[in-house]
Amino acid sequence: MRLPERLALAALPTPLQRAERLSGKLGLDELFIKRDDLTGFSLGGNKIRKLEFLLADALSQNADTVLVMGGPRSNLCQAAAAAARVTGLACELVLYGDRPISIPTTLALAEESGAVSLFTGDAKRSSVEVLAKQRAATLESEGHRVYVIPRGGATAVGAVGYHVAVAEVVTQLSEFGIETASVVVCVGSGGTLGGIVSGMADLGTDWPIFGASVSRKCDEAESRILGIAGQCARLLGTSPPTNPRLKMIDARGPGYGETWLEATTASDIARDTEGLILDPVYTAKALATLGQIAADLRGPVVFWHTGGIATALDAAARRDFT
Ligand SMILES: *Cc1c(COP(=O)(O)O)cnc(C)c1O
Repeated sequence: MRLPERLALAALPTPLQRAERLSGKLGLDELFIKRDDLTGFSLGGNKIRKLEFLLADALSQNADTVLVMGGPRSNLCQAAAAAARVTGLACELVLYGDRPISIPTTLALAEESGAVSLFTGDAKRSSVEVLAKQRAATLESEGHRVYVIPRGGATAVGAVGYHVAVAEVVTQLSEFGIETASVVVCVGSGGTLGGIVSGMADLGTDWPIFGASVSRKCDEAESRILGIAGQCARLLGTSPPTNPRLKMIDARGPGYGETWLEATTASDIARDTEGLILDPVYTAKALATLGQIAADLRGPVVFWHTGGIATALDAAARRDFT
C-alpha cells in the first residue's frame, strides 16, 4: 500500500464497545459500537479521520488556504476549520442557503476558529459548487494556493482515513474472539463507506455492509460509494473492490435534516441503554434503520458511530430543532 502523508489529529484507536443492553433491546445476537464520536479532535467525529489525510495533502501541495463546501450544520466544516487553524492554514467555508438567524453550534465553532463563511443564497445543497469554484479562482488570482474540499470531504484522499480504519476494527473484534461481523454505517456523501469498502477489499474481509443513506436515494448513494472506493484503492495501489456485500437502506425519513419520529425513538433508546448521544441528522437515522433490519441480522453487528455531537446538543437544547 502506498499510504499518502498523514497528519496526526485523531486519538486512535477509538474504542470498540460491546453494547449488551442496546443489543437486547433491538433483538440482535451481539452488538458493538465503534466510537468514532470519540475521535478526540474538536467535535469532528468521522471527519477527523478524513482530515488527517486531506490536510496533509493540502500542506504537501503548499496550500495556504482550505476552501470547504457544506451547510451551516456541516460537521466537516466545523472540524476542518479547527484543523486548519492548528496547522496554520486559512479556512473559508462555502455554505448553501442564507446565514441562519439562529447560528448552529457547528458554524459558531467554525467561525470561532477563524473560518470565514460565504453563503450561496440558494437552499440547494449542490449550489456550493459554483460559488466555491468562483471563490477559489479569486483567491488564486490574489496569489493564494487553495486546497478545495468538497461536501463531506468525499474524495479518494479523504476516504483513505476509513480504508485504514478497517484494520483497526478487524483487530479490535479479534480481541473479542470475533472474526466476522455485519457493519452498519451512516451514509451522507459516501466518503466514509467508500473508504470502508476499499479497506475491506484490501484485507479480503468479505463482511456484509449496510449503508444507511440519509441524504440521497439508495442507487445514487451506492454508485458514489463504489466510485470513491475504486478511486481510493487506485490511489493506494490496493486490490480494487469487485463485488462488495453492500446493501443500501433508505434512512432519509421525511428528508435530509428533517426530524423523523423513528430516529428520535432510536436516539432515546441508545441514550437510555448505553448513554450514547446520537444526532438527528445522521446517527439516529442510521440506528433507526438498524432497528428495522435487526430481525434479519445474524451474528455480531458493528454499528459505526460517526459523531454529530454538536448537532445532537443543539437538538437537545431546542426541542423544535429542524
Ligand atoms: C458527515 C457525517 C456522516 C456521513 O459521512 P459521509 O462520509 O459523508 O458519508 C455521518 N455522520 C456524521 C455525524 C457526519 O458528520
